[in-house]
Parts: sequence; C-alpha cells; structure tokens
Amino acid sequence: MAQHFLLSKAAKSLSLARVFTMKDDQTEMAFRRIRWADTDGDPVCPHCGGVDAYDCRRLKGAPRFRCRACVKDFSITSGTLFASHKLPLRCYLAAIAIFCNEVKGKSALALSRDLNVSYKCAFVLLHKLREAMAEELKGRTLGGDGKVAEVDGGYFGGYVKPANFRVNRRDRRLARYQTGKRKVVVVVRERNGHSLPAVFRSESHALDFIRRRVAKGTTINADEAGSWEGLQDRFEVKRINHEEAYSMDGACTNWAEEFFSRMRRAEIGHHHHIAGAYLLRYAQEASWREDNRRTSNGEQVNRLAGLAMKHKPSVDFSGYWQRHVTADQT
Ligand SMILES: [Zn+2]
Repeated sequence: MAQHFLLSKAAKSLSLARVFTMKDDQTEMAFRRIRWADTDGDPVCPHCGGVDAYDCRRLKGAPRFRCRACVKDFSITSGTLFASHKLPLRCYLAAIAIFCNEVKGKSALALSRDLNVSYKCAFVLLHKLREAMAEELKGRTLGGDGKVAEVDGGYFGGYVKPANFRVNRRDRRLARYQTGKRKVVVVVRERNGHSLPAVFRSESHALDFIRRRVAKGTTINADEAGSWEGLQDRFEVKRINHEEAYSMDGACTNWAEEFFSRMRRAEIGHHHHIAGAYLLRYAQEASWREDNRRTSNGEQVNRLAGLAMKHKPSVDFSGYWQRHVTADQT
C-alpha cells in the first residue's frame, strides 16, 4: 500500500521549532514577502498604491513605513485581517503553523495554552483564519460538462440532553421536543475537485444554492433522502440507497462523507460544540482542509498567511467580540 501523504517527507516542510528559532527580522521579512509578493517584499502603500516608502520604525522597533507620495504611515498588516495586531508577528506565524498542522481543527483553549494568550484572543485569531480560508470559497462554482459532484447534508447543534429518569424522557425526534437550533450543513463536492459547504434549516432549503453553484452538465450523486428530488429537473442525478450499499454502479457520496468525517471529528475531538452563528465558518474550515489535504504544511501556512494578508479587516471580529449572527448562511 502506498505511503499515506501525511507520513511522507513531502508533507512536512515547516516546523513550529523553525518558526520559534526565526529572528525578528526574518519573521518580518517572511510577512513582507507574503504581503507584497509582487515586489518581493518591498512595501507598497495601502493608501495610494505608491511603491516609494521608507522605513520609519516605532520607538520600540515595531516595523512601520512612511509613503513618500502621500506621507501616510502604514505597517505590514495595515488594511489586512491582522490590522492593529497586538501580538508579535512571530506569534501569528506560529498560530497559523499550529492551525495548519492540526488536520482536524484546533481548539481555541488549546491554542491559548500554546501561545499563552487569553481564550478570547485565541478564539478571535482562529476565526480570522477561518475567515481567510472562506475567502477561497467566495463565488466558487463546481462541476461542468462530464464532471461528477456529490451532495450530502449533516446536522449540527440543537442537542437535547435526555432526562435522567426514564419516565421523564421524551421522544427527541419530535419537533416539539427539539430546540429549533439544529441546522444542516450541506456540502457539494466535485470528485477529484473542490468542495463547497453552506448552512440551512433543512436539506430542502439547499436546492437553490446547489442550482446556483453547480454548473449545468454535472452529474450529481446523492443519497436516498427525499429532499434531493428537486435536483432532477436541472441535473442528471444518481441516487444511492445507503440501506442497500455505500457505493453501487459508480453512485456514491463517499467524497461528501469524507468532508463530514473531518468536520465531525473536529466537533467531537476539538470543539465539542459546533453550532449557531459560526457553524458556516467551521464548515468552510473543514472544506479548506479537505481541499488542501495533500498540500505540505509549509505551503498551507504560506497560502493561509497569504489569504489573511490579502483579506480586508475582519467582518465578524473587527475590534469586537462575537456579534455576528445570521439565519441561513451561504
Ligand atoms: Zn501613499
């Protein structure tokens, strides 16, 4: 049997040990090269786009530049996801490395212990990284003529704990005994291609999303659930009844199940509770990890840092602690 990718040498191109032995000017230069890749690290003014800026450090040595054209100051992270950062740059690089190395996800409490920062700081930092990952999924369409995609749904949240005494227990399958907080993550995944998740109240609400984001001509594989009936008017749909088999005559949803396997392990092993306003972010994280599962960790860190440096300051966490709440999230 071929060696698993994660066991191979190619999977390990960056270690946390290396991040922590990097000198300040090396981390600074690493971030400059990621932020200003076109000029190989030479500063470009985010205010006017000028390329003539000089080093104008703060008194304590923190990097800062001043643009000769518009005379405004900026730092390496100005206008990015890490704008107004408080931690040293090395900490951000370490956080990204830790986050990428954990292939199922990273709990905010564990990161707060790793970096000796507060739980809130770690929580916000991790969500900013998820926001950066989501950037790659924006406007993504899947499939096309002759391509095969799979759809599937997985329910998260709204757990109702059974009562202690049997006489007090209720049938938790009945709507009146549920909390109404349960939501479904629907994923569309192209075989040998990318994935795209979204969050809905039920699977049948996902049909419009699938029609919008999957190109005509795609063959869609789905399980026996009645909610996917509506896909037949636009796509060729192959159904697989999981009570009979997991895969039959080429019909299966195993690629989509793989995504849920990763997300479920993140829920059970790391976060314990994935639900509510941030459910979509966790789904997007699982999607990014699935799509990049055969990429070396060094490359993943570069990619993610690059996404964070291209991303505008956070929508969800710009200077505030948890305020983003929406119903259906696509
Ligand atoms: Zn300028």
